Amino acid sequence: MIRKHMHALLVILLFVAVTGCTAAKIKGTSAYFDAVKDDPVRLRIFLTDMPKGGDIHNHLSGMIYAEDFLKMAAAKGMCLDTANGYTVSDGPCKEGRVTAEKALRDTALWNGTINAWSTREDRRDSFMWGHDQFFATFFRFGAAGWDKGYMLAEAAKQANRENVQYLELMLSIFPNDLWSLSGAAAQAVADGDLAVAYADLEKAGLFDAAHMDEGRTLLADAELRRDQLLGSGPGSEVRMRFVNHAIRTLPPHVVFAMLSYSFALAAEEPRMVGVNLVAPEDDPVSMQDYKLHMDMLDFLYRLYRSDPAKQALAENVNISLHAGELTMGMVKPEGLTDHIRLAIEKGHAQRIGHGIDISYEKDPYGLLRTMREKGIAIEIQLTSNDVILRVSGNRHPLKLYMSEGVPFALGSDDMGVARTDMTTEYLRAVLDQGLGYDDLKASARNSLEYSFMPGDSLWADYGAKTVIPQCDAGETEECTAFLNVNEKAAVQWKLEQEFKVFERRW
Ligand SMILES: [Zn+2]
Repeated sequence: MIRKHMHALLVILLFVAVTGCTAAKIKGTSAYFDAVKDDPVRLRIFLTDMPKGGDIHNHLSGMIYAEDFLKMAAAKGMCLDTANGYTVSDGPCKEGRVTAEKALRDTALWNGTINAWSTREDRRDSFMWGHDQFFATFFRFGAAGWDKGYMLAEAAKQANRENVQYLELMLSIFPNDLWSLSGAAAQAVADGDLAVAYADLEKAGLFDAAHMDEGRTLLADAELRRDQLLGSGPGSEVRMRFVNHAIRTLPPHVVFAMLSYSFALAAEEPRMVGVNLVAPEDDPVSMQDYKLHMDMLDFLYRLYRSDPAKQALAENVNISLHAGELTMGMVKPEGLTDHIRLAIEKGHAQRIGHGIDISYEKDPYGLLRTMREKGIAIEIQLTSNDVILRVSGNRHPLKLYMSEGVPFALGSDDMGVARTDMTTEYLRAVLDQGLGYDDLKASARNSLEYSFMPGDSLWADYGAKTVIPQCDAGETEECTAFLNVNEKAAVQWKLEQEFKVFERRW
């Protein structure tokens, strides 16, 4: 009998030891974090709840899961080409294709589509599988992404689920006839005369009211539909801004037209806050045209600062660039030596996306110093780098950027394609990179401080974490008045309040 009681007592003690100590008895957030940091299961619970600020490296089409693309395809009566990567196209379905509708309730079709539209079926025993599969997915599901409002609503709901307060989403907003209009600039771009090329685009009407309205209306309609879908429910409080991206694998005059239009749209449309360049950086076209693309950015950057009609709007156009998303073997060694520097010095990048090949750059420490001194943040996407470049663990340069004082912000890149979420990026930062709670908190704060959200910062001295005098004494009338007209500060204020609530638990 006594033995039986002893046994029960032992079980209870053991239970308390395992569950109680980590859940309630450890005082302080950092101490609790340290207690669970090697336990991926408890760590995920902690990190899901942790306020994360913004996700500022996030492609809208890559964020949406294949399941949602399939739903959009079915709703529009679209078709799947099962013999060709389940590529989606408009109905009615030609011979050899099946309706997307059918895939919704057919397990084999469903799984085939999801595997073809993501990197779920991990086959990285081949060096380039992750890279090729990753980039191929966008062509397969692309046409299904017709309902931008639905996509924005899904993005907002996902952000809300994991305590992300702000999304800076990359997408493509261009007039329907951009491709044909860009032809006007083909000769001048080929001749290397960008001023003439710009004038040709202007003459062709790319920047006229109708074309600018087309872009603005696309965004406004998408937001309206998002808001209708969300109502006042989960996700409705997530703030959003957009970054337009040109596609670096297209012919040079098309890229120039895309960049020029993106500048014009960001200058005039408050929802659009910046410009980026996307598509595989190792692609032969991307590699050959890389410097030309930076020259285009340099031309537009200067144009907006020298043309009196544009000067007042120049600050509305922010630049973040995918640069150095490359690794040894993918391109010739020489190709690894200057993309990050060119993005900063020629492309005027205020933030760098990936920057994986930093250790191959010429004068890497000088470049890191420039980034630190100019406050050029590095956007870190750990899952994406592992899947596409197979760079992880101590081969990833995150620790180098951190130790050289370059501000960093974790981003999800393409959670739908990689079938992850933002919490996974935080989880990897701990498990794969050994980051501590304070590092994660710095990332969350950086993702707002270095975001392109309009308005002044909450911080008078960001390094010292001194808030502006108006909000020194808490949420006074003076502080509220400041937050009402400075969106960035308002979201930062909200993050700080959420940290207080989160940290009070321990
Ligand atoms: Zn990206």
